[in-house]
Amino acid sequence: MTHSPNQGEQGLLSCPEKRPRLLVVDDQPSNIQTLYRIFQEDYEVFMATSGEQVLALCHQAKLPDLILLDVMMPDMDGLEVCRRLKSNPATADIPVIFVTAQLDPMDEAHALEVGGVDFITKPVNPAVVRARVRTHLTLKAQADLLKAMAFIDGLTGIANRRRFDEALLTEWRGCRRSHTPLTLLMIDVDHFKRYNDHYGHQGGDLCLKSVASAIKQELGRPHDIVARYGGEEFACLLPECDQIAGKDKAEALCRAVVDLGIPHAGSSATPPVLTLSIGVAAAYPQDDSGAAALVTAADVALYQAKANGRNRVCVDSASPLWKQGGE
Ligand code: GH3
Ligand code: MG
Ligand code: MG
Repeated sequence: MTHSPNQGEQGLLSCPEKRPRLLVVDDQPSNIQTLYRIFQEDYEVFMATSGEQVLALCHQAKLPDLILLDVMMPDMDGLEVCRRLKSNPATADIPVIFVTAQLDPMDEAHALEVGGVDFITKPVNPAVVRARVRTHLTLKAQADLLKAMAFIDGLTGIANRRRFDEALLTEWRGCRRSHTPLTLLMIDVDHFKRYNDHYGHQGGDLCLKSVASAIKQELGRPHDIVARYGGEEFACLLPECDQIAGKDKAEALCRAVVDLGIPHAGSSATPPVLTLSIGVAAAYPQDDSGAAALVTAADVALYQAKANGRNRVCVDSASPLWKQGGE
């Protein structure tokens, strides 16, 4: 009945991917069986019989959405398992419900202190345990949604500045580890003040939405990140992309927005459509301070693109970031 977590959940349930994943942990197979019967219909249930198995399982890519954790287990007890899960950022947010035969209020307090969200006593009442699991899964889903929303720009639906700032550092470090280049595109809509003045602020908003989705569509690679940097500025982070490929991508973005053919009476382009200016900077990441320098370098290149007449791409080829790391 029990499955080692290393065997994975394959074969246990032929369930669709979307079902919440429930990990039931107990050293007694009969207890696991009881909970399995209660949840098998609504959830993807998988199991572990020791703390070590739980921790090994939680190193895998597909984490459980909720854990039902026995307190009393040989070797590593449930409290210690929970403590370790909570100290690892990758597993800290998984709700843990303790399940135990003991009714000691001190144990209950301990369980909550180490980060458990709830406490259920054995023998379990199926209706109660079902309701509690449902409640905590709902709360977790709501918390996840809020967290995701905190990183999304309300107008355009793409990543916001906060997400960009986090991603810049993450991608910088990732490219440093893999000795690959990181390219940043700073993008600014040309003469956008005139656009608003002529077509109204709501027209301007619609236009920003169209530009955001055109950029997103053009980028293509799943690990590229496009964010609204602020106002009518966007930023693209292109990991494992060098300066030459970054410039090509920027030129494709400029063309894609021209091809939208958004009329812009105040445009300096011919025909008078909405256009972008883009600054490109690339680096082989070294120390963390270089991430801010990359933004500055892309900004300088963007300024150059504006000064040279807009609707164009400029590359920060003079950047010491590129020369030092790339040779
Ligand atoms: P340049 O070509 O030099 O970039 O000129 P610009 O007019 O685009 O630049 P400027 O910085 O002078 O003006 C930016 C304008 O973008 C002014 C501001 O009202 C507008 N803007 C910023 N955020 C939004 C927004 O969320 N919605 C709308 N509709 N307009 C915005
Ligand atoms: Mg601007
Ligand atoms: Mg502008």
